[in-house]
Amino acid sequence: MNTDSISPGAIKSEDEHRRDICTVGRWIHSRSFVVATDGNISVRLDSRRVLTSPTGMSKGMMVPDDLVVTDMRGKKIAGRREASSELAMHLLIYNRRPDVYAVVHAHPPAATAHAAAGIPLNKALLSELIIALGCIPVAEYGTPGTQELSDALEPMVQHYDAILLANHGVVTCGPDLLNAFFRMETVEHFAQVSLMTELLGKQVLLSGRDVEKLLVARARYGTSTASTVIPGCPITSDNAGNAECRPERISVTREELEAMIEEAVRKDRALR
Ligand code: 13P
Ligand code: ZN
Repeated sequence: MNTDSISPGAIKSEDEHRRDICTVGRWIHSRSFVVATDGNISVRLDSRRVLTSPTGMSKGMMVPDDLVVTDMRGKKIAGRREASSELAMHLLIYNRRPDVYAVVHAHPPAATAHAAAGIPLNKALLSELIIALGCIPVAEYGTPGTQELSDALEPMVQHYDAILLANHGVVTCGPDLLNAFFRMETVEHFAQVSLMTELLGKQVLLSGRDVEKLLVARARYGTSTASTVIPGCPITSDNAGNAECRPERISVTREELEAMIEEAVRKDRALR
C-alpha cells in the first residue's frame, strides 16, 4: 500500500480517514509546515462525530490508532490518546460551515511570519491565488488552545477558507482533507512569493478588471471557495492608492530616498 497518497473516493470509511489524516500529518511535517508537536488535523466523520489528531504528538509520526473520535461538542467517544488542544477551533468551523469536512492547522514559516507581523496576504499579486482564495486575512490574537482563539476567528470563519492566526499560524478548511491541505500549501507558497517581491523591492499588482476576470475563471477551473472578494480586498493596482488600502510599509531605492530628501531640503531652503 502506498502510504504517501490520499485514498480517492467521495465516501470513505473511518479507517480510510484515519490513514488520510496520518498521511497529511507526514506531509505538513516533511514540508516544515510544523515542527515538534505543532499543528492539528481533523475530519468530520458524520453529523455527530469528528476524527482528530491527538494533542502533544508529532503530526509526522501518527499512526491510525493514535487518532481520537469526539462528538460535536468535543467530548471523547473513542481513542486511547487525548484530542487536539485546538479542537474547539475545528468544531467552531464545522458548526458554522456545513460545507466543510476537513480542517488543517499548521505553522508554516512564511505565512506564520505574516501572521506575526500582522500583515494579511491581501494583494492581487498572483492570478492563481485570486482564483483559489482571493484574500487571506489575519484574525486577532487569541491564546492557543483556549476559547479566545475561537472567539477571534468567529467573525471570519463564514467568509474565508484560509485565515492567518495572529502571532501563531494558519488554519485552512475544505470539503475534504486533500483540499484543506492544498489550501495550506497555497497559503504558504503565496506568502513566500509575496515576501520575495518585498525583498525585490517591487510589486506589480493586478488591476480590478484582472481580478474580475479571474473570479469568472473560478467556474472554468471548478474552484469553489467561501473566500470572498470584497471592495478593497484584494488590493489591486486601481485601489492601492485608497487610504484604507494603503500599505503600512513601502519600499524605495536608495537613489529614490536620496532624491526625496534632497527635494525636501530644497523646498525648505526656498521657503526661508
Ligand atoms: P495540539 O498538539 O494539541 O493539537 O496543539 C498543537 C498546536 O499547534 C497548538 O496550537
Ligand atoms: Zn498551533
